[in-house]
Amino acid sequence: MSRYEREHVRVAVIGSGFSGLGAAVRLRREGVTDFVVLERGDSIGGAWRDNTYPGCACDIPSHLYSFSFAPNPEWPRTFSGQSYIKAYLEHVADTFGLRPHLRLNHEVTLMTWDGEALHWVVETSRGTLTADVVVCAGGPLSDPRTPDIPGLAEFPGKVFHSARWDHDFDLRGKRVAVIGTGASAIQIVPAIQPDVAKLALFQRTPPWVMPRTDRAITRTERRLHRALPFTAAVRRRFLWGVREAQVQAFTKRPDLLGLVESLAKANMARSVKDPALRAKLTPSYRIGCKRILLSSDYYPALARPNVEVIASGLAEVRGSTLVAADGTETEADAIVFGTGFHVTDMPITERVVGADGNTLADAWKDGMESLRGATAAGFPNWMTIIGPNTGLGNSSMILMIESQLNYLADYLRKLDGLGGRTGGVALGARASAVRAWNHRVQERMKRTVWSTGGCTSWYQDENGRNSTIWPGTTTEFRRATRQVDLSEYDVIRAAGGHTSRAGSEKETVR
Ligand code: NAP
Repeated sequence: MSRYEREHVRVAVIGSGFSGLGAAVRLRREGVTDFVVLERGDSIGGAWRDNTYPGCACDIPSHLYSFSFAPNPEWPRTFSGQSYIKAYLEHVADTFGLRPHLRLNHEVTLMTWDGEALHWVVETSRGTLTADVVVCAGGPLSDPRTPDIPGLAEFPGKVFHSARWDHDFDLRGKRVAVIGTGASAIQIVPAIQPDVAKLALFQRTPPWVMPRTDRAITRTERRLHRALPFTAAVRRRFLWGVREAQVQAFTKRPDLLGLVESLAKANMARSVKDPALRAKLTPSYRIGCKRILLSSDYYPALARPNVEVIASGLAEVRGSTLVAADGTETEADAIVFGTGFHVTDMPITERVVGADGNTLADAWKDGMESLRGATAAGFPNWMTIIGPNTGLGNSSMILMIESQLNYLADYLRKLDGLGGRTGGVALGARASAVRAWNHRVQERMKRTVWSTGGCTSWYQDENGRNSTIWPGTTTEFRRATRQVDLSEYDVIRAAGGHTSRAGSEKETVR
């Protein structure tokens, strides 16, 4: 009989987007097969399953926005659409034998650290299991944020968020209000503009927009990548190298970005001839402070006669009238919120109860803080992929995810080395190490464009602290996450062995 009261796994991975599937592949490669991937949805893909809005595509080139261990010579476009990315992830799940590990429709409702048994009790909508290690790969873009607008509940028309697109609703001939001008909205606007009767765009802050050099990848290129895989690797390396060089301007020399602003202004001027509209669309902060958006059809769409740009946020809804903060009133049949996600206040943190009985949301109430983007003090054997300060402003998140997977792999190896293969040992990030890491990160943040650029963005939490972006190159992050430094952790052992109920003991490794 099992010594555990319930089903027990070595690792429980939460989420099956790029991070969760990447973790699953990595676990198998490390020889860990005793794991499950818990997914609340009925299929895999994370953000690339949830975001099906018209025009949804990735603004990072596909040959870079894919796993290094799963190159795809068949990418159809330089910037491929959502359905291709979702299909790619399904292919990864099949190729790497991940299906047996997947538990779809399993929403994690609570995770509680059992400090005596030294494991996590993971409650899901379909029962409870225990796990030595939890890898939280839910991602920061999984819970849509819809602002609390007075009167919205009484709006008689259709309302939905960009990440929960209602495909049954026919937008043709309707008066549609799009709220927000982030990466999602600027893809939606040109995609729906030809169909709707009127499009009112509520722009609280104008984005900087650069052209998107999207094109079909030719059959010859694809054949070449298939026959000679190193050509795809060279292509990827080039795309990576350009962005790696660019980021230096964001992190060290924001003053150099003025030149890029000129290019963005010229891009706008090419499509928007009306000086009044150009004035509305011109940002007043340094380019890069908010994510630079890539689109070649956004400005042309805004110049169309059925589009009105309201240079103000949505403040109130009165019946079918939308009232902007500047008092502008607009009639609408439908409201599409392109208002982003709960990034710095991830709802899942309320479902994680650590060693001292507090939730991760409590621990992070003054701002998210982790050690190397992965572990948090008071939450032993719990790790996030795309945790605090691991985001990028200009390059592929898959690079960061793979760095974090290196860290995960070494974490498990270190646990094994301490005799934890069969449980009974845990690693707890030391508060002092977490503090030191965050001090370094925030010191580096000071001179970046995200701090000096004169904007507010979703990179910052409600206290204005940037707890999302990595203020360096992907190479630096790779280096910082290559190995787990045990001096940054307490080794926690169950007193009297792993089945002991008598409490646990900490030891220090130097
Ligand atoms: P977002 O970047 O957070 O943008 C939210 C937008 O909503 C902002 O423009 C914000 O204005 C606006 N907003 C919020 N409340 C408003 C109100 N009451 N009235 C008017 N506007 C309001 O969200 P997102 O566009 O969904 O993008 C989120 C992230 O998802 C992106 O940054 C990116 O990382 C990812 N994404 C990536 C791609 C891709 O191609 N790779 C595509 C889509 C999304 P303020 O600027 O004034 O706050």
